[in-house]
Amino acid sequence: MNVLIVGASVGGLTVAEALRHKGYTGSLRIVGEESHPPYDRPPLSKEVLTGTWPVERTHLRDEQRLAALDADWLLGRTAERLRPADHAVELDDGRVLTYDALVIATGLKPRRLPGQPHLAGVHTLRTLDETLALKRELQVAQRVSVVGAGVLGCEVAAAARTLGKAVTLIDPEPVPMLRTLGHELGGRVAELHRSRGVRLRTGTTVSRLVGENGRVTGIALPGGELVETELVVLALGSVPATGWLAGSGLTLDDGLRCDSTLRAADDVYAVGDVARWSDPATGTTHRLETRTNATEQALVVAANLLGGQRHHRPVPYFWSDQYEIKIQVHGVLGPHARLRLLDHDDSRFAAVAEENGTTTAAIGWNHPRGVRTARRHLAA
Ligand SMILES: Cc1cc2nc3c(=O)[nH]c(=O)nc-3n(C[C@H](O)[C@H](O)[C@H](O)COP(=O)(O)OP(=O)(O)OC[C@H]3O[C@@H](n4cnc5c(N)ncnc54)[C@H](O)[C@@H]3O)c2cc1C
Repeated sequence: MNVLIVGASVGGLTVAEALRHKGYTGSLRIVGEESHPPYDRPPLSKEVLTGTWPVERTHLRDEQRLAALDADWLLGRTAERLRPADHAVELDDGRVLTYDALVIATGLKPRRLPGQPHLAGVHTLRTLDETLALKRELQVAQRVSVVGAGVLGCEVAAAARTLGKAVTLIDPEPVPMLRTLGHELGGRVAELHRSRGVRLRTGTTVSRLVGENGRVTGIALPGGELVETELVVLALGSVPATGWLAGSGLTLDDGLRCDSTLRAADDVYAVGDVARWSDPATGTTHRLETRTNATEQALVVAANLLGGQRHHRPVPYFWSDQYEIKIQVHGVLGPHARLRLLDHDDSRFAAVAEENGTTTAAIGWNHPRGVRTARRHLAA
């Protein structure tokens, strides 16, 4: 068999490793748009931005382990077109790679503010190169604005505050991280940022970015207020990196649609942030943007490539580090979930989230041991 993996990050790498681990000895080719060896994204908005980790520490494997995979790495190369009928992928350098089985692990691309001029000092953060560019500018800027108070925006705000910057965090929702944590827990995140000196502007959108001589100087809010700033980080969420699959006949629907075995078409599988899988039990589809999900899906796909019939039925899990606080969530928090504290003191708690009489999530706030115990309520 000849396996081609597009996307050389945690999802793609884990499929390759799991295949070898299970005894696969055939050809493995891995195409990745970024020129870096596979690295971990979670530290980018945390340890890399604050400078507590050198870049090398983000590398997912050292050179020896990558070499031991015996894979053909095509890094710095972009897949531009998929021709499923020919079992072929066209690359940006004109090469055409054929496959017996294809794994698509192309992740996400950050959203930008539509209709805004291109201004220096405006950043997105998805890749290592983007992180290093932002980090360089953070060394000199004093006033930083973050647009979007989701997980990424909150982490960037925390990192910038830790570096002593004056930070404004702007979001249209009433509390940060509403989509992932709901109102009650999102309210605690708001308190956390306020207590650390972040200027929180929730419940407001951005009218436009303001610049002088090609460089951002402010953010105009509705009603005429101007937030003066030297740097803007756009943390507006991301969209699945499926542009290269247009016209392939695969179903694109806020992600690459696949079944619960993560099969998207004959001999084509999807893994990680890009994959939208269907749950036959409920008829619903899901896509997760979490590190653990990418690894779990990769293990399912590796098994299925080798003839298995494994289904992906995860209990979603993510964590976020902001200041010295580690937030951990197993399960799903709806907007109106109520917290029931199980164990708490002044600096930490473990809780379950309840909605309509059902326990939907286990939560740790600086309490890794407590969240493990809370998880048992979820399984019950
Ligand atoms: C800054 C940041 C912080 C995060 N923090 C957390 C956290 O604290 N906790 C958590 O659970 N999750 C976190 N995440 C999410 C987690 O990193 C992702 O869920 C995970 O990286 C998904 O892995 P993936 O392999 O699916 O995609 P990605 O890691 O996005 O990798 C996709 C790769 O495919 C490449 N690619 C895209 N298109 C093409 C193409 N056409 N041809 C070739 N290559 C292509 C991309 O360049 C990229 O290298 C964070 C993400 C970011 C960006």
